[in-house]
Amino acid sequence: MTTITQDDVLSVLKRIAAPDGRGNVVSAGLVSDIAIEGGKVMFALTTTPQHARSMESLRDAVEKAVRAMPGVEKAMVALTAERAAGQPQQSQPQQSQPQQSQPQPAPRGTAVPGIRHLVAVASGKGGVGKSTTAVNLALALHALGLKVAVLDADVYGPSMPKLFGLTGKPEASDAQGKKMKPMTRYGVELMSIGFLVPEDTAMIWRGPMVMSALTQLLRETEWSPADVMVIDMPPGTGDVQLTLAQQTPLSGAVIVSTPQDLALIDARKGLNMFRKVNVPVIGIVENMSYFVCTKCGERHEIFGHGGAREEADRIGVPFLGEIPLDREVRLRSDSGEPVVATQPGGLHAALYRDVARQVWAALEKGGLARPAPRIVME
Ligand code: ADP
Repeated sequence: MTTITQDDVLSVLKRIAAPDGRGNVVSAGLVSDIAIEGGKVMFALTTTPQHARSMESLRDAVEKAVRAMPGVEKAMVALTAERAAGQPQQSQPQQSQPQQSQPQPAPRGTAVPGIRHLVAVASGKGGVGKSTTAVNLALALHALGLKVAVLDADVYGPSMPKLFGLTGKPEASDAQGKKMKPMTRYGVELMSIGFLVPEDTAMIWRGPMVMSALTQLLRETEWSPADVMVIDMPPGTGDVQLTLAQQTPLSGAVIVSTPQDLALIDARKGLNMFRKVNVPVIGIVENMSYFVCTKCGERHEIFGHGGAREEADRIGVPFLGEIPLDREVRLRSDSGEPVVATQPGGLHAALYRDVARQVWAALEKGGLARPAPRIVME
């Protein structure tokens, strides 16, 4: 089998002219780092939101040229619109009419066939229980009788395989190996980068690579039709998260925060991030809200309590509920037996179902669904 190197790929790309006629795509600086895994080649072409549409044919040509190389089984080329450092994000208030002179908002990617709503679960920083909330929210939506899928987009620390208690690799769903079957547990379909690469490999991925990988997980998984897909976002509000929020056709976002001040400041950043890209924020979940002592039965408000509710009121975002800090939640999460699936009669399951009901009501009430955006990536 031929082993492909980055230089091999670059030499093919150097034969492809840049769109403005000045040199080739490599000399014009349009090509990101190239990731090669076996016969799979992934990289991104830089564009601007305004030019994304016209760049689509170039992206297609580049992908075909790389795919035609001996030894290449698969080529994934994504268009990314990167923001120069210090340049403000392009945002467009929903009410205002786009004007000719204003920059257009970045295209949002096409809908995922068969999936009615995509909901991001996000947090301003790591460690607040975002993934725990995402898995239990997904299972609670399932418990309401909905068809649910989960996409683990936390490429920096994919924890969904562990939370679902799943190991192994997804199977190819066709003879050519073009699509993967999602994994299934507790009645929910799941895809995670954690099934495909070791965690430490995922850690070093750069922005455009993250988008390529996630687009692949989203589009090349043979999902069953679903009412809702819960997406566990990477923690934080950096450019990767922003691009993801911008380029995924999200119906809405749920923000997870702990009651501490610091986490709330971070949660506010999360809200602002989704607002910038016109994704409706469905509400805030306060996690590790209080602790009920198993010995004395008293409720202890370790981090100071109610911060998230007050903050949500202040900024006019729905408050979806408070989930107590509980040893059982942690133990069950860590052993792949999430509380909503394994203790459906317990307090936590009831609280998560309550959050799920509100999320579903918000999605179904309309206003959160968006028109199908233009195609940018596939
Ligand atoms: P994040 O996705 O924000 O990094 P995780 O969901 O991985 O956070 O949670 C971090 C740790 O906190 C995990 O060990 C998890 O089991 C634990 N945890 C999350 N929520 C709770 C809770 N309500 N009670 C107890 N432990 C929790």
